[in-house]
Amino acid sequence: MSVWDDVVGQPDAVATLRRAATDPAAMTHAWLLTGPPGSGRSVAARAFAAALQCTGTDGETGGCGRCQACTTTLAGTHPDLTVVATDKVVITIDEVRDLIMTAARTPSSGRYRVIVVEDADRMAERTTNVLLKAIEEPPPHTVWVLCAPSAQDVLPTIRSRCRGVVLRVPPARDVADLLVRRDGIDPAVALTAARAAQSHVGLARRLARDADARERRDAVLEIARRIRGVGDAVLAAGELVDVAKAEAVAATAERDAVEKAELMRALGVQEGDTLPPRLRSQLKQLEDDQKRRATRRQRDVLDRSMVDLLSLYRDVLVVQLGATVDLVNAEHDGAVRALAADSTPEQTIRRMDAIGVARERLEGNVAPLLALEAMTVALRPQG
Ligand SMILES: [Zn+2]
Repeated sequence: MSVWDDVVGQPDAVATLRRAATDPAAMTHAWLLTGPPGSGRSVAARAFAAALQCTGTDGETGGCGRCQACTTTLAGTHPDLTVVATDKVVITIDEVRDLIMTAARTPSSGRYRVIVVEDADRMAERTTNVLLKAIEEPPPHTVWVLCAPSAQDVLPTIRSRCRGVVLRVPPARDVADLLVRRDGIDPAVALTAARAAQSHVGLARRLARDADARERRDAVLEIARRIRGVGDAVLAAGELVDVAKAEAVAATAERDAVEKAELMRALGVQEGDTLPPRLRSQLKQLEDDQKRRATRRQRDVLDRSMVDLLSLYRDVLVVQLGATVDLVNAEHDGAVRALAADSTPEQTIRRMDAIGVARERLEGNVAPLLALEAMTVALRPQG
C-alpha cells in the first residue's frame, strides 16, 4: 500500500507529485492542484503532504503509507501539517494572516511544514494579495498546496507563482474499484454508484453506502418522468426545492446548535439566560453566517439534483443517437428508453439547455423556485 492508493484515476498527477516528494530537483514550494468537484483534490493534497513528510519504511520513501509521518499526515494529526477546509463562503483575511504566521515557523519534527488550502478560490482579492507575498518568498522548509476547481478560479498572480497539477475526472471503473477496496462495498453496487455519481468519489461513496441518498436521487430522476403538463411542472419544482431545503437543514442543524452554544459560553452567558442587549450583535453575526451557509448548502444540493437530471437526459440522448457508450443511469434503463421514445434528440438537447440555464440562474442568485419552475416547465413533453 502507499499514500497514493486513494488518489484514483490520476496517474499523471501522482507521478508528478511523487517525483517532487523524492527528488529535490523536482520540488517547488507552491503548488496549485486543480480539478472538477469530486476529482479528489483534497485527497491528492493530503497524499502529497504525507509523501513530503514520509520518513520511509524498508527503504521505500515518497509516501510509503506505513511510517508514522505518513499515517499521522493522512489522519490530519501531523504537527507540521495545517489543512484549511472551509464550509464558509470565504476564507477571511485574518485566517490567512494566521496561516502565514504558521508557515513562517520551522517544522517541529517533519521534513517540511505543509499548508494545504482546500478552497483557495474562496478568497477575496485583498486576502489573496496578503497570501501572495507569503507564497513568493516562503521559508526553505515550507510548502503551500492550494486547491481550486480550475486555474481560472484563482488570481493570475497566484497562478503564476504556483506549479500547476491538473486532476481529471477519474473513470467510473477506477472509482468503483476504490469503493470495493477501501470501503468493502459490493462490486455491482459500487459500479452503479460510481456511474450515477459521474465519478465524483465522495458522492459515489455516499450513494453506495446510504440508501436514503440513493432514494433521493431516484426521486429526482422520477420527477422527470412525472412531468406531463404545466401543473405537474410547477409541483415538481416545488418538490425539488423542498427536498433540497430539508437536506440542507439536516446537514447543518446540529453544527449550528454547537456553534451557538460555544458562542454563548465564550460570551459568558449561561444556558437559559437572556442575552444582554450589548451582546446581541455577536449572536446576530453568527446567525447570519449560519443562514448564509444553509443557503449555500441548499443551492449545492439543488445543483446536484440538476446534474443528476442532466445525466438522465444525457442518457436519453445516447439512446436516441444510438451511441455505444455506457449509460450513467443504467439502473433507470426503462425510464431512459421511455423518454427517448417519447421525444426527439432536438427536444432532449433543448431540455438539457433548460437545465443548464437554471443552473446558471441559481449561481446568479435567482430565487430557486423561480429558476426551477422555468426549468421544469421546459422539461414537459412538447407535442
Ligand atoms: Zn511513509
